[in-house]
Amino acid sequence: MTKPTPGRIEVISGPMFSGKSEELIRRLKRARIARQRVACYKPDIDLRYHRTSIASHSAQTHEAITVATTEELKADLFPRLHDIEVIGIDEAQFFDPALVPLTVELVHLGKRIILAGLDTTFAAEPFGPIPALLAISDEVTKLSAVCMVCGAPAIHTQRLGQSQELVVVGAAGLYEARCRACFRPYADENQAEQLELPHS
Ligand code: ADP
Ligand code: MG
Ligand code: ZN
Repeated sequence: MTKPTPGRIEVISGPMFSGKSEELIRRLKRARIARQRVACYKPDIDLRYHRTSIASHSAQTHEAITVATTEELKADLFPRLHDIEVIGIDEAQFFDPALVPLTVELVHLGKRIILAGLDTTFAAEPFGPIPALLAISDEVTKLSAVCMVCGAPAIHTQRLGQSQELVVVGAAGLYEARCRACFRPYADENQAEQLELPHS
């Protein structure tokens, strides 16, 4: 009897603009070149771009299905699961905790699951189901962006402006990538402008 193919959990994380979506899209495209059947999902919180695709800040795209919850993702995926080998999930930090047991269930069914998501919030706290996913994954890719203040590798997402809500979706102008030295949690726009930065 041949052994069933083991599944695999891959997590791609880092701050905004670190290339998570780019890397997810790259892996999904390569899987398709290898003639594997791919399904891609994103939470419907991410209204920046299109509901039927994921996109990177560098304008690469991949077809995706927008779902509101893990339950909705399951309802779409399970009826066609026999036909799917690779499952991509973008903005995984916005999913509910049920994403973690679902990922475990899928990996035990021999699927390759690739999850991209922010590791931390604008307050530098672990974000949603990502910490648990990092813990159970086969492979973690931690990406950094470029600090918009000093050009060093950036691990933080700086929110510009005063909102303290966890989810303010948008992109350019609202958030920027910052290194540890330039990151100011809770700083508003004016304070950010008044920062005395090491190189200035
Ligand atoms: P993420 O999904 O992690 O937010 P994307 O894959 O959407 O990232 O975008 C990555 C692209 O964003 C880079 O290839 C680059 O073209 C662009 N970009 C814009 N600002 C930055 C920055 N501060 N650091 C790195 N890349 C940036
Ligand atoms: Mg992204
Ligand atoms: Zn910096």
